[in-house]
Amino acid sequence: MKSIFITRQIPENGIKILKEKGYDVTVGKYKTPPTQPELIEELKKKNYDVVVPLLTDKIDSAVFDAVPTVKIFANYSVGFDNIDLEEATKRNIAVTNTPGDYVDGVAEHAVALLLAIMARLAEADQFVRAGKYQGWDPMLFMGDKLNGKTVAVIGTGRIGERFARKLSSGFGVKIIYYDVVRNERIEKECGAQFVSSVNEALALADAVSIHVPLLPTTHHLINKNNLAKMKPTAYLINTSRGPVVDEEALVKALQNGRIRGAGLDVFEFEPKLTKGLVKLSNTVLSPHIASSQLESREEMAEIVANNIIDFFEGRVPRNKVNK
Ligand code: NAD
Repeated sequence: MKSIFITRQIPENGIKILKEKGYDVTVGKYKTPPTQPELIEELKKKNYDVVVPLLTDKIDSAVFDAVPTVKIFANYSVGFDNIDLEEATKRNIAVTNTPGDYVDGVAEHAVALLLAIMARLAEADQFVRAGKYQGWDPMLFMGDKLNGKTVAVIGTGRIGERFARKLSSGFGVKIIYYDVVRNERIEKECGAQFVSSVNEALALADAVSIHVPLLPTTHHLINKNNLAKMKPTAYLINTSRGPVVDEEALVKALQNGRIRGAGLDVFEFEPKLTKGLVKLSNTVLSPHIASSQLESREEMAEIVANNIIDFFEGRVPRNKVNK
């Protein structure tokens, strides 16, 4: 019987598929990501055939050496930068990922962060819970309305495009965008206007939402210099990757009222936060959960199961990411 180690709890539907196929499945009991030595110690307890790591598990030569019986690492994540692919390929170990449909979920989360920060929802929620509400007050928590505003989308790939469509069709927003590739679909279908640089997008927008991948060219794409170009009434939303924004510069801009607010799902040094960020009331923060919807997470669990089944039934796993 093939045995599988899943490093932390994932939705049961994927585990059920594997058990029904006769696999022996063990799920790690960690509540937070294990360190690599902890993971290695656990893996050495049995001659596992498969490991299902999460994005937080670093898989490299140290793990490959410790568990030579494992021939497939079926990552429970669309990203796979946690795994040394080159080394896995050298050792003839398969690596797979879970490219499910997270696009609407992340785009919706970006819309939610934007609405929440403009309506000052997090601040108002804390106020009510703290028993401070003394009755209706026309001046209480005055926010901003989204209708009629100009929103800049930086990166109009899968998520950025979906975000632009939701805002232009449902909220009466004018979309401007910057991407290294022109997106004619949103120009035609959403009336989106292409601008020729990030700086121009930041200068014109009432709100900016970032949807680029983390690359050497996008590291600190939002920085002290271009934050200074934003309107003082503008908002910044980031659901892409933390290091795309210089978080220290952002904290300063928020502290000084250089911009009005920010909604962040990702952090430059996550799970650590830049000093000063948690004290800022003009932010809404979520712990990297933009794609955490039950439907998406269950779809990923099913994809993991199918990749493993493909492998042991002699097919190339449908989401194999290495050679
Ligand atoms: P995608 O590849 O479909 O789109 C990315 C877009 O960014 C492309 O259109 C590309 O041309 C553009 N781009 C690349 N470099 C650029 C640059 N220097 N300037 C401007 N545009 C540039 O990616 P996607 O699936 O839409 O994902 C977007 C981001 O969302 C990624 O960073 C991804 O990691 C992140 N993401 C976050 C979560 C979450 O839970 N918060 C979940 C899934 C994805």
